Amino acid sequence: MENLSNPTVIKNLLQRHGFTFSKALGQNFLINPSVCPRIAELGGARPGCGVLEIGLGIGVLTAELCKRADKVVGIEIDKRLLPILEETLSEFSNLKIINEDVMKADLKRILFEEFQGMEIAVCANLPYYITSPILMNLLEQRLPIRSITVMVQKEAAQRICAQPGSREAGAVSIAVRYYSEPKILFHVSHGSFLPPPDVDSCVIRLDIHKNPPVALADEKCFFKVVRGAFSQRRKTLSNCLSSYLNLPKAEINALLEQAGVSSGSRAEQLSLQQFADIANTLNQNC
Ligand code: SAM
Repeated sequence: MENLSNPTVIKNLLQRHGFTFSKALGQNFLINPSVCPRIAELGGARPGCGVLEIGLGIGVLTAELCKRADKVVGIEIDKRLLPILEETLSEFSNLKIINEDVMKADLKRILFEEFQGMEIAVCANLPYYITSPILMNLLEQRLPIRSITVMVQKEAAQRICAQPGSREAGAVSIAVRYYSEPKILFHVSHGSFLPPPDVDSCVIRLDIHKNPPVALADEKCFFKVVRGAFSQRRKTLSNCLSSYLNLPKAEINALLEQAGVSSGSRAEQLSLQQFADIANTLNQNC
């Protein structure tokens, strides 16, 4: 197999296939040879395990996953990459490539059909234009996966992994914590990619909770409260919720008091349990 981390090899390969990078599809391919083995190891690619990869590029991470896991299924939107992947990954018989948009693919069916009886992990160097929608799509569907290990922009990593109650926390951090335990694994500089993006990156892992960390009467109401609470960063919880839920401020303040949360506090000061308490109190009026 050719060295898929070598920029000269990559440029020759791409030139032979007449391939040009698409910025719109977030095509920054990894060329730092130490990164993909680390993602594969820390992402749990191992015997007995199946891995779903999103966005294969020329297959540099895919090869490391195929070497370690029983089976790899890769979803790649760009059909121009298919003949390239056929060439670079020809030695692996435990790989299936699906040419689809991951946001439109029927992931539940794919996982059920392809990985019966296996533990499943998701690993990817995600296209940065669509990081949060992909993560939320994977989490909200409650797919039967053990973990999600992905490369994302450094700022996105900090937001996703922020502790509730900290200044960096946002709606995504709270949602991610409801479904999983997120962790920053390691940093990757922008020079590790071809072409290099403007920003640095981090590899993060979300270990999926077996049971939700808080009890909710209505999940939809919880996420509505979280979105509402963070809808206007500079405003108090009371103001945000009153305008987002279209309820009089006095009513919101009474609900907050009942939930034991100060009406003057701000969303980034609240714990997961406090969001749950507000949602459970609000339930009927949500
Ligand atoms: N895994 C390769 C690597 O590390 O070098 C490529 C990573 S590159 C950052 C992102 C890849 O995701 C590209 O191959 C791009 O074509 C693909 N992609 C972009 N949007 C996608 C989508 N909606 N569904 C599936 N793949 C997508």
